[in-house]
Amino acid sequence: MPPSTAFATRAARAGRGAPPLAVSRPLMPPIYQSTVYAFESLADVDASYEGDAPGAVYYRYGTPTHAAFETAVAALEGAEAAVAAASGMAAITAAVLSLAGAGDRIVADRYAYGGTYTLLMTELPRLGVEVTLVDVQDHAAVERALACGSDAARPTALLIEALTNPSLRVADVPALCALGAAYDVPVIVDATFTSPALLRPLEHGAALSWHSVAKYLGGHSAATGGVISGRKDLVDLIRNKIVHLGGCQGVQDAWLALLGLPTLPLRMAAHTRTAHTVAEYLAAHSAVERVYYPGLPTHPGYEVAQRLYPDGCGGMLSFDLAGGETAARLVLDNLGEIAFAPSLADVATTVSYPYATSHRGLPDDTLRAMDVGKGMIRLSAGIEDPADVIADLDRALSLCAEGAAQRAGRL
Ligand SMILES: *Cc1c(COP(=O)(O)O)cnc(C)c1O
Repeated sequence: MPPSTAFATRAARAGRGAPPLAVSRPLMPPIYQSTVYAFESLADVDASYEGDAPGAVYYRYGTPTHAAFETAVAALEGAEAAVAAASGMAAITAAVLSLAGAGDRIVADRYAYGGTYTLLMTELPRLGVEVTLVDVQDHAAVERALACGSDAARPTALLIEALTNPSLRVADVPALCALGAAYDVPVIVDATFTSPALLRPLEHGAALSWHSVAKYLGGHSAATGGVISGRKDLVDLIRNKIVHLGGCQGVQDAWLALLGLPTLPLRMAAHTRTAHTVAEYLAAHSAVERVYYPGLPTHPGYEVAQRLYPDGCGGMLSFDLAGGETAARLVLDNLGEIAFAPSLADVATTVSYPYATSHRGLPDDTLRAMDVGKGMIRLSAGIEDPADVIADLDRALSLCAEGAAQRAGRL
């Protein structure tokens, strides 16, 4: 039978629509790489827009791939709902703009991640949102900032980081959430460094838990995104903001992130084991002046960490080399299989040098306040056998000892 339509028409309509599977389903949710969804009737359009029937409309509003990732993260966090965004920064931007507008005030951790710091200190003030930075270790200072004086704008959110970059300061999340509750200020916790495997902030009273998906949730340096979990009414507000601002996550990234979730507890246990072993090794090495790992009793946050992190403190640590910048350059250039990569949470161990990357160009007094020196190296412990990571570190650190001996000989 000859085709009833012209070739161009047949081409335009070719391959549209997924054939329904009657007796099986894909075990892994498919990637919905469609910008738009077709409806059978206007009644279905109404039902979809009103939320009366499940139906996707347009990529930027969210697809079934996003929904699969969001549902999975909400389950891990013990949250009513979660929403994904293009990046960690896209997610927190939508969250703070949902909670604060011109005339409002955000109280935030002075030691927050650099991207967060820039958003708070350069973008928000231009929109009329005031920002008060506090050292969240100092609970009296947090309380003063939350107490709304007559001359200060109303605080509408407290933004804290569970473990800070790069000196791993430990926020007492339950105590800070209790302070937020006392002043009726929702607390947002950046739990990127811990992942929900080690800390679920909502269980401690936080309103929202926030992650950069590129880190432990994805875990393989392949997926970019951000995700925020919490009460459904708050998450719905943030979802609207993401739609308005246009910061939706790519579906490939949502799918890759989904692929990382089942192994999260296994990976976090292995990251923690490597980090703890490496931290103990570094603490005993003569070329190392100081180690920042909250699982070591010498860390100022040790007591709080013992209470908050019964399963260990995760894979991030930093250390100061006694030989300063010279030693740092020597070590960084000779790390064998350990890659220099200014991100974190990969399955393989990586290092970064905050002075020249995340904290590049900051004034000296700011760097000092953040413990960032020219001899500081940050290490993201992978899931390898710790002995092999230590072997690479040991070869590099032995060069410091040789360098020091040579310098001493010349004097
Ligand atoms: C990477 C990171 C972010 C920002 O996330 P992006 O996905 O890069 O936008 C926020 N907080 C912490 C602690 C991070 O490490």
